[in-house]
This record gives sequence, structure tokens and C-alpha cells, in this order.
Amino acid sequence: MALEERPVGKLDRAVIFLGPPGSGKGTQAKELARQYGVPHLSTGDMLREHVSNGTPLGLKAKPIMERGELVPDSLVLKMVADRIERPDCEHGFVFDGFPRTVAQAKYLGEMLRRQGFKQPFVIHMVIPTSVLMKRLTGRRTCKQGGEIYNIYERPPKVEGICDNDGGELLHRPDDREEVVAPRLNAYEKLTAPLVQYYRRLGSLHDVDANRSVEEVRREIGQLVSAMRGTR
Ligand code: AMP
Repeated sequence: MALEERPVGKLDRAVIFLGPPGSGKGTQAKELARQYGVPHLSTGDMLREHVSNGTPLGLKAKPIMERGELVPDSLVLKMVADRIERPDCEHGFVFDGFPRTVAQAKYLGEMLRRQGFKQPFVIHMVIPTSVLMKRLTGRRTCKQGGEIYNIYERPPKVEGICDNDGGELLHRPDDREEVVAPRLNAYEKLTAPLVQYYRRLGSLHDVDANRSVEEVRREIGQLVSAMRGTR
């Protein structure tokens, strides 16, 4: 990162990445969180961890996630509330995959108000549905560090192995073709209404996500740095 692009100061609020599966939320949210030194909170990653640890929450969530449906709010909201109360969240955090319904957004608004945070800053990743299938079915994620690749657009140097740490690259079970369609349907039906919800609140910022990771990263960096210091 060039020196002049390096962010100065703190994030001091929640940044939300809103967009369909495959729009690049994970890649960009991780990068933004890294730049500002705040936690990257992916509810999908948290749920997958519960599933692999076989916790009671994981056992309930597993079949729902395998079908590409949303896990009920009764399970997700408590998990998120517990997480953002931890001390590492006091200077803000980046959400990836949360909120996913208007009910979750309302609950989050309440939680943030109670904890004295400003209104969240929402980045809406805009992308044509036609490119999502390729992005999702080609996605591979490093088992160790979580680095995200795409076998068509951003392949690793050695097939199946992470360039960064040599970790094994995994194909998420819900990135298989037959589960992608229900996930996109769930997005259209339950999550897309959040675009209107946050636009009305004046918190939404559209970003053209159908560009290179670097171009999208640069625009998000500029938006977030212009946001700091505003209400
Ligand atoms: P993701 O990694 O964000 O694509 O999420 C993977 C899966 O986890 C989704 O298809 C849902 O089944 C579940 N999930 C993740 N975040 C949420 C959420 N905020 N509300 C409900 N279900 C979620």
C-alpha cells in the first residue's frame, strides 16, 4: 500500500458490507479491517467454526447452511451480540454477511446505539447476478489463513495450495452449483430489502464490485477515509 493511501486514525464505528454472495465482501471486508486494525466479523465464518467444532449452535446451523438458507435470528443475534461486546471491538469493526435481514438490521441498530456507536457505514457491493455463479463455484479459501482465491480469476500459483502460508485450499460445500441458487434466492428475498432500508437512513454507499480487487479496494478506502470525522 502506498504511504499516501495509508489510513490515519481510527474507524470508530461499524462498517457493513452488503451484497450478494460472491460480490467480494469477504475479500474487501478483511482488507479494510486489516488496514484499520479492527476485527473482521464474518457471521458465515463464525457459524462455520461452530459447525466444525460441533457446538450446539453448529449442530443446528449445519443443515440450514447446507441448504443455502439463512440461519434463524434466534441463533445469529446472540452470537453477534456476544462478539461485539468484546473489548477488541471498542474502536469499531467490519461486518461481512451481517445483517442479512431487516429484523437483524433493526436489532443491530439498537445494539450499536446502546454501546454508544455512531450510525453504521454501509458499503453496497453492486454486481450483476450473471457473474456470481462463476465467482462462487470457482472460489477456494485457505484452511489456515482464510485467504480467498478464484480458480478462474485469481488462481493460486500451485493448485490447491495457498500462496501465503502453504495452507490447503478448500471448496466450501455451499459454493457447489446446486446450493448457489438457493443462496442467491435468499439474498434477493431477505437481504436485498436492506439496500432500501439503509439508503433511506442515508448510510448506504454504492460501489461497483464488478472490477478488480485492487480497484474496488481503492474506492472503498477513499469512501471510508472521507467518512471518518462525519456524523
Ligand atoms: P456467508 O459465508 O456469509 O456466505 O454465509 C454462509 C451461510 O451462513 C449462509 O448461507 C447462511 O446459511 C449462514 N449465515 C451467515 N450469516 C448469516 C446471517 N447474518 N443470518 C443468517 N444466516 C447467516
